[in-house]
Amino acid sequence: MDTAFIDHEKIYDILQNVREPDKSEIEDIIEHAKELKGISHEEAERLLMTQDSELRQMLLDTANYIKNEIYGKRLVLFAPLYVSNLCNNECLYCAFRKSNSEITRKTLTTDEIKKEVEALVSQGHKRVLLVSGEGLGNEALDYSIKAIDTIYSVKIGDGEIRRININIAPLSVEEFKRLKDAKIGTYQLFQETYHWDTYKKMHPKGPKSDYVFHLTAMDRAMEAGIDDVGVGILFGLYDYKFEILALLQHIRHLEEAFGVGCHTISIPRLEPATGSYIASHPPFSLSDEDFMKIIAVLRITVPYTGMILSTRETPEMRRNAFSLGISQISAGSRTNPGGYTEKSSGGQFSLGDHRNLEEVIKDMVDYGYVPSFCTGCYRLGRTGKDFMDLAKPGLIKLYCLPNALSTFKEYLVNYASESLRYKGSRLIEKMLEEIPSNDVKKKTTNNLQLIEQGAQDLYL
Ligand code: SAM
Ligand code: SF4
Repeated sequence: MDTAFIDHEKIYDILQNVREPDKSEIEDIIEHAKELKGISHEEAERLLMTQDSELRQMLLDTANYIKNEIYGKRLVLFAPLYVSNLCNNECLYCAFRKSNSEITRKTLTTDEIKKEVEALVSQGHKRVLLVSGEGLGNEALDYSIKAIDTIYSVKIGDGEIRRININIAPLSVEEFKRLKDAKIGTYQLFQETYHWDTYKKMHPKGPKSDYVFHLTAMDRAMEAGIDDVGVGILFGLYDYKFEILALLQHIRHLEEAFGVGCHTISIPRLEPATGSYIASHPPFSLSDEDFMKIIAVLRITVPYTGMILSTRETPEMRRNAFSLGISQISAGSRTNPGGYTEKSSGGQFSLGDHRNLEEVIKDMVDYGYVPSFCTGCYRLGRTGKDFMDLAKPGLIKLYCLPNALSTFKEYLVNYASESLRYKGSRLIEKMLEEIPSNDVKKKTTNNLQLIEQGAQDLYL
């Protein structure tokens, strides 16, 4: 078996010698973590082994501390845009898999994509994640590039999509170059499971059954000049400890090869999916407690890497996870192509959070979180290593918080109900005080006034 840079033997070794860390060991690691520079992978391994409830709580508190110090109360919002549920693969957990006859198949036309984007823009969205099954064969890349152009072309008043991230089948270096030229933000691909045997079992047929081609997608994307790549694990397929240790190996490999690791980590848990037994019977079901521990360990280990939580999770779980260091969430999502304008095609899995964007935002505001639609870094070229260099203690608050406030203001002025506008404006006033520079505070106050008078898309 060729598992490239995922060293299975080494991980088995670590897992076999599992010894729970004691309190003083955890305290030492936490002290190191509070310097806000991340911790070593060896330290992360130790944290991962924590089972004791008091020690676990210490991890959650530390993650909360790091989240507040680095990110403050800002949370970036996006919506997935599913364009096709055709697929040539047989991923056992997914409703889109080729042999599943229980869903209606659909690939959106350019006109249908426009309508979907209009629906999202009318709600106030500025960022989409373009998602597709893998059933379009040789046409797939051309289709995706056309879809990207179409999405960027939609304007409703001053509303528009300003950043498109994309989650599609892995490509060659040459193909990735074309995707980069189409002006994508992050290229996302989830390894699902890093465990070779499980991967082979879960992906019995189709191009995705090639573990190494899937795993090395990020190498090709980065070689092609795509600076921001997003990785992910589908929790429930295999032992979470193995997966996290392997994920850390993947990150280390990217750091060694390209000088920077991944931009985001997604942490989906398996959800029921039409026509899939596995999806409702996860072989390694992940408890809420362990899920929270994983989020905390990742936040502590790679403090400047974005962490994405989708609407697979319930509102309550999402609220809990925000405080541990989630930095991006989807809202008002549909996983069936055409789902924002009609309901006929088949969705990928069932959702835990069915609220629309405004309901999610209201809830965030009630809990003191600032919804952000910011796309500033990507448009100013602050990507990859440049972004990581910027992401030093305090600097995210200096750029991201002001930009979160401006984009939230834009949302309030153009899309929010009166009651949300009132609540949101009060939150903005309060959060202005948290900007750690008088100069930036002044600039932001000025931008907020301009937005009130109709200006759009102001960012630092
Ligand atoms: N087709 C591409 C692929 O598989 O990489 C990209 C899009 S796929 C539609 C997006 C992700 O959905 C997959 O990577 C997988 O992790 C996730 N997914 C599939 N079935 C799921 C399920 N039953 N529950 C939760 N997530 C699921
Ligand atoms: Fe196809 Fe992706 Fe679903 Fe697998 S996870 S069946 S590749 S859409």
